[in-house]
Amino acid sequence: MMKCGDCTLCCTLLPIKELDKAETTSCIYCNKGCSIYKDRPASCAEFECLYNSSKDMDIKLRPDNTHIIFEKVTKDIYLGLIDPRYKDAWKVKGIQDYVNELNLKGISVILSSFSQEPKRMKIAKNHTQEWVHKTAIRLLKKELNGSS
Ligand code: SF4
Ligand code: SF4
Repeated sequence: MMKCGDCTLCCTLLPIKELDKAETTSCIYCNKGCSIYKDRPASCAEFECLYNSSKDMDIKLRPDNTHIIFEKVTKDIYLGLIDPRYKDAWKVKGIQDYVNELNLKGISVILSSFSQEPKRMKIAKNHTQEWVHKTAIRLLKKELNGSS
């Protein structure tokens, strides 16, 4: 498991319903890490950042360096949440290379920010844009509604 180090991006980017925290606002409990870690809300505990849960991801891909947090929607669809303050972060070569690598492994990637910017889909050859869109929307809605 990779260490978060100086990164605290998820504690700013993500909306946390239990804390009434809107997306892209700093969490009041974020102080060089979570000051209520053992008692943090379920939404925080359940969130799986791909960098943090990986064994050997390049530190250059740590979200505070890329301004994008990747998470798995399914084993073959990933979501890249872009920090809206860096809306062009997805254009950086390191990200393009990483996304191409995922596509070659049969993983499609949706790149999205919380702004009105359109979502970008990088589709693996074995998928269709329509299937990826429908699957991701269904699962993300389920997650937002808190159902299993
Ligand atoms: S975005 Fe990932 S690496 Fe950064 S603090 Fe959150 S879990 Fe850790
Ligand atoms: S409660 Fe802790 S883990 Fe959750 S957003 Fe706040 S600082 Fe981050």
